[in-house]
Amino acid sequence: MKILVFVAHPDDETVFTGGTLILLARVGFQVHYLVATRGEGGEMGEPQLCVRDELGQLREKEMRCALRALGGTSVSFLDYVDPIVGAENQLFPYTDDVDRLTQQLVEHIQALGPVAFISHGSTGEYGHPAHLISHAAAHKAIAHIADAAPLFYTFSAAFNGHPRPRLLNKPDSAHIILDISSAHDQKSQAALCHRSQNALFVRRSSKRAGRPLTVPEVLVNVESLHRAYPPVNNGAVDDFISRALKPWTQEIAPSEPK
Ligand SMILES: [Zn+2]
Repeated sequence: MKILVFVAHPDDETVFTGGTLILLARVGFQVHYLVATRGEGGEMGEPQLCVRDELGQLREKEMRCALRALGGTSVSFLDYVDPIVGAENQLFPYTDDVDRLTQQLVEHIQALGPVAFISHGSTGEYGHPAHLISHAAAHKAIAHIADAAPLFYTFSAAFNGHPRPRLLNKPDSAHIILDISSAHDQKSQAALCHRSQNALFVRRSSKRAGRPLTVPEVLVNVESLHRAYPPVNNGAVDDFISRALKPWTQEIAPSEPK
């Protein structure tokens, strides 16, 4: 059975839901990745690993490295170009044409025929405009396919007690909360593959800790999913994703949607 994961940038898959995707591959799902951009506008590493013009190529390689670490099956790119981060860390979407992006997702979903589709949450994790438009198009694509749509999950779902509440999509209540510690080493390998982003991964936590932390030290061992389609109160759906993930599922009371 196939799963399609759609993210805006190489690294989103690992940072937000890498452990979950490792566990799904471990229990036998073929996990396919679709990435909107090659993260051309992001950081170039510390020390700098390439010039700006080469960053997309480098990050594509990093994504292929992460794919192997995550036990994934394939990765494709939609070939949007990620805009450079602006002054004062201003972030931008890679397109404003949500209809075109939706159509591309519909085509990819229909061509691959996944049983589940996983993407960004409704508030773009921390409000990143590229994550927001990715979520919007994912949501529209599923609505468009309607009855023939795969199960649709969003990551970084909200629940009380998450160690990094800043990165949760507050309106998306968690339906699956996972202890991914058995996937920590693999998730660390995938995160280390994204070498150009490693300084970024540890910056905020190191500052808070008052000492330089390593990439494995900053990765959290709890991840969560919200089932966006069909809605959970919809009754008779065979949610084989939640069944497959049962051995790692934590019983924590989900927070109320706000
Ligand atoms: Zn991103």
